[in-house]
Amino acid sequence: MTTKNHDINGWEHYNSENEKKEMYALADKYLSFLTEAKTEKEVVTYIEKALKESGFSDNTAEGTLIRKLKGKTLLAARRGKRPLSEGFRMVGAHGDSPRIDFKQHPLYESCDLALAKTHYYGGIRKYQWLARPLAIHGTVVKMDGTEINIVIGEKDTDPVFTITDLLPHLAQKEIEKKVKDAFDAEKLNLVLGSIPDKSEKKSPLKNTILNILKQKYAMEEEDFYSAEIQIVPADKPRYVGLDSSLIGSYGHDDRVCVFAALEAFLNSPQPEYTQIFIVWDKEEIGSEGSTGAQSHFFDYCIEDMKEAWDKDAKLSQIYLQGKMISADVNAGLDPDYQDAFEKMNSAKVGYGPCFNKFTGSRGKVGANDAHPEYIAFLRNILKKANIPWQMAELGKVDLGGGGTVAKFLASYGIDVIDMGPAVLSMHSPFEIVSVVDLYATAKALSTFYKS
Ligand code: MN
Ligand code: MN
Repeated sequence: MTTKNHDINGWEHYNSENEKKEMYALADKYLSFLTEAKTEKEVVTYIEKALKESGFSDNTAEGTLIRKLKGKTLLAARRGKRPLSEGFRMVGAHGDSPRIDFKQHPLYESCDLALAKTHYYGGIRKYQWLARPLAIHGTVVKMDGTEINIVIGEKDTDPVFTITDLLPHLAQKEIEKKVKDAFDAEKLNLVLGSIPDKSEKKSPLKNTILNILKQKYAMEEEDFYSAEIQIVPADKPRYVGLDSSLIGSYGHDDRVCVFAALEAFLNSPQPEYTQIFIVWDKEEIGSEGSTGAQSHFFDYCIEDMKEAWDKDAKLSQIYLQGKMISADVNAGLDPDYQDAFEKMNSAKVGYGPCFNKFTGSRGKVGANDAHPEYIAFLRNILKKANIPWQMAELGKVDLGGGGTVAKFLASYGIDVIDMGPAVLSMHSPFEIVSVVDLYATAKALSTFYKS
């Protein structure tokens, strides 16, 4: 028996039948969440439903609060025994994932196919999205304000969509190109159909699509101006490996943290400190926009909490004593790309949630750098709860890097650090996380909420 609770394999740490049962019950629930929530809006809808089903309501008199913005970002809070002026425990994650969006003038036809022009969202490796089944999820708002929700490609009886790729027989020129030049964003066009509308001379193929849209959704071509249509993988999440120890799915980044944080939040009632659970949008494109972490949404929610629970508190008191975990995924050490990592400081799949003291790139530029006092506090609570965890950074120093929402919250004076499970094939249509990491992350976040 080891007494160490960091840098240990989670499967060796949690080895009782009971723990395994709990682990897979949580994982099954996570799989159905992933199936249901493939866009930021669907993530927020799921959370709202889960909160309501567990009896959590927007009632500040009872010590609970829910705030939403545009259906894309959500904050839930639970009043603590201590006044808000003594700070809070907050977990923040992001509900958006890399994907491909329709352009606002999407429809056209070419070579007897009807197609849609697209613009990708977030960091994708374009070739991973070619020649595979894709679904569309979105919202169309008509001029009178009517909202039409579209989901096609998820039911077994639905058709799916695809972006074509060049056959190897004719790819001699392509394979000589650098990857960055070989895949052109303007060639990420979605196949929508191939039957011409005989009554229409000018654009017979496009017209067939327009007729279907009109019939099914009462929408006109110009309604695409006020629409957000997202293209996502049509596949369902699956267990991976002979031992079913891993989960493969689109959107683990960052829905694995959204889900773990929601579970932790729901399972940690009657807190010492006020608890906050927040899900932001737009993280994958820099956290800007009114629903991103750089917006004032969080300030407005704190204002409401202060008004309801601790009128005389100073905002600076609340923020400066606030503690937060920026729950976001880490890059797992990939056996095929070990040379991109510095192994002593890399996150391992199956080793529990991973802390990143800092993110940023090329010399910590753009990083929140968590303070050692705060990390010591977190080490201590995880030690007491005997939860496995690890500490890492994102790949080799000069290879690249990345950012999260942490630095935007750090600007308030809140103590904040990044933490989340290691992911393989991050930002791909089929990302991998470990069942044991999901379990340990939910436990770690729950421990943090109760601290
Ligand atoms: Mn992320
Ligand atoms: Mn990401």
